[in-house]
Amino acid sequence: MSVVTRFAPSPTGFLHIGGARTALFNYLFARHHGGKFLLRVEDTDLKRSTDEAVQAILQGMRWLALDWDGPEIYQSRNADRHREVAEQLVTDGRAYKCYCSPEELAEMRENAKISGGAARNYDNRWRDRDPSDAPAGIDPVIRIKMPVEGETTIADLVQGDVTKANDTLDDFIILRSDGTPTYMLAVVVDDHDMGVTHAIRGDDHLNNAFRQLHLFEACGWDVPEFAHIPLIHGADGAKLSKRHGALGVEAYEEMGILPEAMCNYLLRLGWSHGDDETISREQAVEWFNLDSVGRSPARFDMDKLLNLNAHYLKVADPARLAAGVLRDADAAGITVSPDAEKRLVAGMPGLASRAKNTHELYELSSLYLVDSPIEMNEKARHSLADDAARQALNELAELLKKVTSWGEADLDGIAREYAESRDLKLGQVAQPLRAALTGSNVSPSIFEVMAVLGRDETLARLENAAN
Ligand code: GLU
Repeated sequence: MSVVTRFAPSPTGFLHIGGARTALFNYLFARHHGGKFLLRVEDTDLKRSTDEAVQAILQGMRWLALDWDGPEIYQSRNADRHREVAEQLVTDGRAYKCYCSPEELAEMRENAKISGGAARNYDNRWRDRDPSDAPAGIDPVIRIKMPVEGETTIADLVQGDVTKANDTLDDFIILRSDGTPTYMLAVVVDDHDMGVTHAIRGDDHLNNAFRQLHLFEACGWDVPEFAHIPLIHGADGAKLSKRHGALGVEAYEEMGILPEAMCNYLLRLGWSHGDDETISREQAVEWFNLDSVGRSPARFDMDKLLNLNAHYLKVADPARLAAGVLRDADAAGITVSPDAEKRLVAGMPGLASRAKNTHELYELSSLYLVDSPIEMNEKARHSLADDAARQALNELAELLKKVTSWGEADLDGIAREYAESRDLKLGQVAQPLRAALTGSNVSPSIFEVMAVLGRDETLARLENAAN
C-alpha cells in the first residue's frame, strides 16, 4: 500500500504553529514511506474562509519547505460530489431524510439536556418513518444512520485504542436542507477520493473520527488510519494561545527565525528520536514514525526555538545568509558594492556564529556592507580622538603594507609584535583598530575583520581614520 497523507487547513486564519506541525508530521510520514503528501484547503465555510488566509497558509508551507504533491485541492469545489454521495446513501438505505422543524429539534435538545446525557440530541425520529409522511413545504436534511448499539473502537496510531459507546453518537446531518454538505461529509468524501491512507491531525478531531469512521463504512469505503496528535500547550501548561506565541508562522519569519530551525523545533515538539535535538530534514524523513509521537501535550518554549535558530545560523550556507542580508539592505535603500558583497559572504561564518536571529545578523553585517570611508559612531570617534591612537594606526598601517600573507593569525601576530615594540597593551592597539575598521566599538575579532576586508579596504579605512 502506498501512503497518502494530507494537510487539511481551514483558511479562516493564518498558518499557526499547531497547523504547521500537523503539516510537517504529514509531510514527513509521507516522505518517509515514499508516498504522497496532499494539501486540501477546507474552505466550505465560505463566510469565514478568506483568500488572504489561503495565501498565508500556502506561503507558510512554502517557507517551511513543506512541498505538497500536485495542485492544492479546494474542498468547496467538490460540493456536487458531496451531495451525490449523500443522495446515494439515502438510496442505499444508509441515510435518510429528516423533516424535523427547528422547534422539534430544540425540544429534543432540551430533553437531552434534562436527561443529563441519557438521551441523544436527536432522537432518530425520521430514521424509520415512511417518507410519505413528509410534511409539505419543508426541505429535509439528510442524516446518516449510525449504529444504535454496541461500541466503536478506533485503533489510533498515536492514542492507541479509543472506544466510545455507540448510543452517544446520534444520526448526524451530512447534507443540509439547502443541499450543502456538512464538514463531516466533505472530509470523508474528499479523504476517500484523494486516496488518503493516513489522517494525521490534532486530537481535537478525535471525536469526529468516530462519526467519520461510520460514514466511511456506510459508503463501503476503506477507513484511513487515524493518528491524533496532542495539541501544543504554552510553557505554563495551558492550551496555546496568542499570549504564548501561537502566532502565524510568518510572525516567526519576521522575528528572524530560519525555516529549518522552525521545522526542527516543531518536529521535536511532540516527537523524539532519542536525545537528538538538532535533526536535519534528511534525518527527519529517515527517522520519522508515529510510534514516537508523545501522547501528552508538548509545551512551546521560545528559548529552545531561539537556541535551535542560533545553531542553524551557524551551519547555514553563507551565500544564502548573505543573500538574505542583501535583500534587507535593499529594502532599507542601501546600495551594496560588488566588493562589499564579496566581503559579506567571506565574513558570513564569523557573523552567523554570533547571531541569534536574522535581524542580529543584519546588524552585525553592516561593517562589511559599506566601503571606505565608513561612518563612525560616537564611541568609535572617541577612541580615535586620541593622537597616540591615531599614530599607532599610522605605524601599524605602514607595517601592514609590507605584509605578504593576509591571514587572521598573521595579522594578529603583527599587531602583537607592534604593541610589544611600543610597550603598549594589545587592547591599546586593538581598540582604535576596531573603531577605524568597523566604525563601532563592538565587532567580531578584529583580525578576522581585517582578513575579511582584505588589504586594500583595511588600509583605506585605517588611513581615513588616522586623518
Ligand atoms: N480542517 C480541519 C482543521 O483545520 C482539519 C480536518 C482534518 O484534518 O480532518 O482543523
